[in-house]
Amino acid sequence: MKQQEVETLAASFCESDPGQILRWAVAEFSPHLVMSTAFGVGGIVLLHFLEQMGCKIPVFYIDTGLLFPEVHQLRSVLEDRFGITFERITPAIGLREQAEQFGENLWERDPDTCCLLRKVVPLREYLRNKRAWITAIRAGQTEIRSRAKVVEWDERNQIIKINPLLKWTEEQVWSYIREHKLPYNPLHDRGYPSLGCTPCTLPIEAGEGLRAGRWKGHSKVECGIHLLSDVDFYR
Ligand code: SF4
Repeated sequence: MKQQEVETLAASFCESDPGQILRWAVAEFSPHLVMSTAFGVGGIVLLHFLEQMGCKIPVFYIDTGLLFPEVHQLRSVLEDRFGITFERITPAIGLREQAEQFGENLWERDPDTCCLLRKVVPLREYLRNKRAWITAIRAGQTEIRSRAKVVEWDERNQIIKINPLLKWTEEQVWSYIREHKLPYNPLHDRGYPSLGCTPCTLPIEAGEGLRAGRWKGHSKVECGIHLLSDVDFYR
C-alpha cells in the first residue's frame, strides 16, 4: 500500500466508528492482521467490538517479565470471557542477562534502552511478517499520539498501523466498559489509570495527568512501541 493510499484511507476513516474501521481492516488484511494489547481498557473495548463482529484475529501482548500480577490475572479472565488465547511475545534478552550486560535496574538509569530491549525490538521481530497491526491508542493520551492517524504507515516496523479508537475519549472508553459490563484491571480503581511495568508505574496523585505515574522522575512519556520513527524515539 502506497503512502498516498494510506493518507487517503486515514482521511476517509476520520469520522468512522471503531466497528467500521475494524471491519475494513479484517477484510483488507486478514490473515496477516494482528492486534496488540497491554490489557488496558481501550484494548478490551476493541476485543468486544471484534467479538460482536464475529471476527477472530491473533491478539498479542509483550511480556517484559516485569508486568503486574494483576495484568496476568486479567489476561486469564479475558481469555475466558472472549474465548481466545493471547499470543505472548517476550524479549530475546532475559532479565538476568540484561543485568549482566547493562547493570542492575537498567530502567532506573536508562529506561529508553530498557524499553528498546524489552518492548520495541521484540515488537519489531514479531511484526516482521505481518501486513497490519491494530492498536488501542487514543489521541488524548500523549502529545505524540495526538499526531497519529486512524490508518498510518509505521516506518519503524514497516507495517500498516490501524488505530480504531484514536478519536475516543477516556470517558467514552469507560462508558463502553460499564455499559457492556466488561472486566478490567482492578488497579485502575486504585490510582493506576495507566499501567506499564512494575518498576516504572506508580499511582497518580489527585490532579495529575492519567499517565503521570509512568516513568516518574524521567521526561519519558512513551515506551517507544507507538513511535513511528527512530527520530521520535531518540529526540
Ligand atoms: S517500562 Fe520500565 S521496566 Fe518496562 S521495559 Fe520500559 S523501562 Fe524497562
